[in-house]
Amino acid sequence: MYQTILKENGLKATHQRLAILSEIEKYGHVQIETLYESIHTLYPTLALGTLYRNINELKEKNIIQEVHVNNSKVYYETIKEKHHHFTCKECGMIEDIQLDAEPIHSSVTLPKGSSVDRIDVMLYGTCDKCASH
Ligand SMILES: [Zn+2]
Ligand SMILES: [Zn+2]
Repeated sequence: MYQTILKENGLKATHQRLAILSEIEKYGHVQIETLYESIHTLYPTLALGTLYRNINELKEKNIIQEVHVNNSKVYYETIKEKHHHFTCKECGMIEDIQLDAEPIHSSVTLPKGSSVDRIDVMLYGTCDKCASH
């Protein structure tokens, strides 16, 4: 499946790119450090710089995207259908959530002359596991 997506976007379906995509998919949302550790287990010769270069290419082609938590941590995920996120303040887990952003869009007062082309909502809270501690 990723082979086709890569080719459609003019990228060669190299083993490394395929491994990167399937690792991201496996985690759902993953930080670069974690991704590097697990890719490194599969490809011990892969340098961090190469990983970053691949990540940037995949990002430019909109095959993966960044998810920002607390405006500091960056997670990567493969682009699926439009969704928003819930994150647990305690353990940091991130879940995809479905949310209708249209009411936000229609109720917001924007600075004069501005327009919105994307809404990403991040909900912060406590997950089931952490709540039952
Ligand atoms: Zn939690
Ligand atoms: Zn997501």
